[in-house]
Amino acid sequence: MPLSPDQAAEITAQRAQTTPTRRVTSPGMEERLYTAHPVLDHGFVRVIDYMGDDAAICQAARVSYGKGTKSVSNDEGLIRYLMRHWHSTPFEMCEIKLHVKLPVFVARQWIRHRTANVNEYSARYSILDREFYIPAPDALAAQSTVNNQGRGELLEGEEAARVLEMLKSDAMRAYDHYEAMLSTEGQKGLARELARMNLPANIYTQWYWKVDLHNLFHFLRLRADVHAQYEIRVYAETICEIVADWVPAAFKAFEDYRMGGVNLSATALDCIRRMLKGEEVTQENSGMSKGEWREFEGVLE
Ligand SMILES: Cc1cc2nc3c(=O)[nH]c(=O)nc-3n(C[C@H](O)[C@H](O)[C@H](O)COP(=O)(O)OP(=O)(O)OC[C@H]3O[C@@H](n4cnc5c(N)ncnc54)[C@H](O)[C@@H]3O)c2cc1C
Repeated sequence: MPLSPDQAAEITAQRAQTTPTRRVTSPGMEERLYTAHPVLDHGFVRVIDYMGDDAAICQAARVSYGKGTKSVSNDEGLIRYLMRHWHSTPFEMCEIKLHVKLPVFVARQWIRHRTANVNEYSARYSILDREFYIPAPDALAAQSTVNNQGRGELLEGEEAARVLEMLKSDAMRAYDHYEAMLSTEGQKGLARELARMNLPANIYTQWYWKVDLHNLFHFLRLRADVHAQYEIRVYAETICEIVADWVPAAFKAFEDYRMGGVNLSATALDCIRRMLKGEEVTQENSGMSKGEWREFEGVLE
């Protein structure tokens, strides 16, 4: 259960409020506002605020006085043009502020995206909750034998049960000691900023994360990708669903050009031209390394 009854009531009260405004709003995003979308076993993503919509991207691109919208199809065409030609600044005119609850080891990957504004829950000031990420059986996998940065087959039977038991009992033991160190019963009690250091990296933290749409697309391109670790990918996938409702035309262009498209080197492009002319192109005569050729074949398949 990611939310306590008090937290759920606060969200319901906030969702019941409406404020008249002259600013543009996005119907899809208004529907999403404040709701906690569950991710992993205790995590969530909530939209706290946003600025702009598809039309705002076109308005900025045209530097117009009014709404800047000509027609929906005209706007969609412009957005696709901007995305195709890496014209990024109009996308920076839209912003989103999220409240995210996530395991600390996921937060370490997430924080590497420097082009956002972050404010994290303070474990110097507050006591962390007893909440740890424990993988579901279908996420409990062995080390990949072909990729040093990935997972292979699922753990099964006794091995899976033993690993889960270790994860759970280690987390509980560490938290029991955390509480015992903080306690002031018959002792001074260790400062929160020090007591937290024995907690494992699967404990949950929370933050507010604000980013513009251009940099959010960059984050999603990397983290909603199959090469990203499952535990951060599920957050990115949830954010993708939110962005699709917020700026549908921009998200469609992003899916088409960035998520679904590929960048080809001049050498790869030359190989495709030679193939189209009927030439037999192999790794040996392609001018590519074995690794590049493997990836190139992957793209063509
Ligand atoms: C699958 C995967 C595996 C990874 N593995 C590792 C790993 O093993 N070890 C590791 O340390 N990291 C790893 N990373 C993290 C990765 O190297 C990047 O740090 C992370 O993805 C953030 O990307 P970014 O810097 O482009 O994003 P942001 O910080 O959001 O920056 C966006 C863009 O802004 C520009 N920019 C931002 N700040 C600067 C700056 N100070 N100077 C110049 N340009 C700047 C760059 O053009 C950058 O691409 C991995 C990431 C992925 C997706």
